[in-house]
Amino acid sequence: MVEENISLKKYNTFGIDATARYFSIFTNMDELNELVEFKQPSTINHQPSILILGGGSNMLFTKNFDGFVLKNEIHGIELIKEDEQHVYVKAGAGVNWHQLVVHCIGNNWAGMENLSLIPGNIGASPMQNIGAYGIEIKDVFHELEAFHLEDKKMVTFNLKDCEFGYRESVFKRKLKSQFVIINVTFRLNKKSKFNTSYGAIEQELEVMGVKELTIQSISQAVINIRSSKLPDPAVIGNAGSFFKNPEISFDHFETLKTEFPAMVGYTLRNGNVKLAAGWLIEQCGWKGYRKGDAGCHAKQALVLVNYGNASGAEIYALSTSIINSVQEKFGVGLEREVNII
Ligand SMILES: Cc1cc2nc3c(=O)[nH]c(=O)nc-3n(C[C@H](O)[C@H](O)[C@H](O)COP(=O)(O)OP(=O)(O)OC[C@H]3O[C@@H](n4cnc5c(N)ncnc54)[C@H](O)[C@@H]3O)c2cc1C
Repeated sequence: MVEENISLKKYNTFGIDATARYFSIFTNMDELNELVEFKQPSTINHQPSILILGGGSNMLFTKNFDGFVLKNEIHGIELIKEDEQHVYVKAGAGVNWHQLVVHCIGNNWAGMENLSLIPGNIGASPMQNIGAYGIEIKDVFHELEAFHLEDKKMVTFNLKDCEFGYRESVFKRKLKSQFVIINVTFRLNKKSKFNTSYGAIEQELEVMGVKELTIQSISQAVINIRSSKLPDPAVIGNAGSFFKNPEISFDHFETLKTEFPAMVGYTLRNGNVKLAAGWLIEQCGWKGYRKGDAGCHAKQALVLVNYGNASGAEIYALSTSIINSVQEKFGVGLEREVNII
């Protein structure tokens, strides 16, 4: 069923009350095949532009969407093969990400535990190569199947085809808006390789009194840290980190360091330095800022929030002011991580 002029408020974690001209949910390929043939009534053969929606946790609607929003609810988790070291698990694009993590941990399949509690669905996870606590999905990715909206054909993408980078993939760049991701297959380890070096995982494991490491305890530590640090979208609208951590040259970092000795940088393999966007924003005085219902979270400057009735345009305007002030103070350009519609 195709609905008209539907509010998207409950379909995006920012809680922005934008509307979709047309809206429908699909749960299988037959429904998707039918929906992509939809022609706008009262026009001759006009096909509205399509926007695929998952959990809506990485989107900011700055205006109404004058096209067709298709919400992917293809479900199912399946163990498709295994060898001595690995299992290959295929999940429908509409499966909730954390639900898959819990499923894998329950079966003692290792590799995803550091990615616990990331909001959203499987289909969006390769879009921006989601990551947290030292792991990205590229580390557990095997392949995905996607439907080409023009050719109406299924295409398989392996790790190399996806061109994963820091919160990047081919689907965000040269193949933007061309494919609907239908399912993703992950390769998980039968034998755990623990990764606790990142962030506060080790301290949290200590607080928890963990004597023997397991993927379950790491997952719980990550859940505890995330719950204490990040605002729950069910309480305050947000889309997690609004900006990416910027990368600058080593020379630029050295120059900044003389003026701002507390600045922390992480040297990358290419010699550049990655900075903490949250720290830069905080130094510009934005942490806890609020204008109307749009704000910068009081505990986590990287997260922009909607306290209730902010419009997407107001949040976007705030993000522009933040970008400008960071540029002015540090000469560093911030890039938005959230998809702007
Ligand atoms: C509190 C909070 C914490 C977060 N923490 C993290 C974190 O630690 N790490 C991290 O990486 N992200 C994080 N995020 C961002 C977000 O959870 C991820 O980007 C997630 O993958 C988005 O999934 P989604 O289903 O909600 O995608 P949506 O917001 O619905 O869509 C995101 C993009 O993907 C496209 N898309 C969605 N599904 C498909 C599909 N099946 N086929 C093709 N295109 C599709 C959409 O068109 C859009 O461009 C956080 C968000 C919140 C609210």
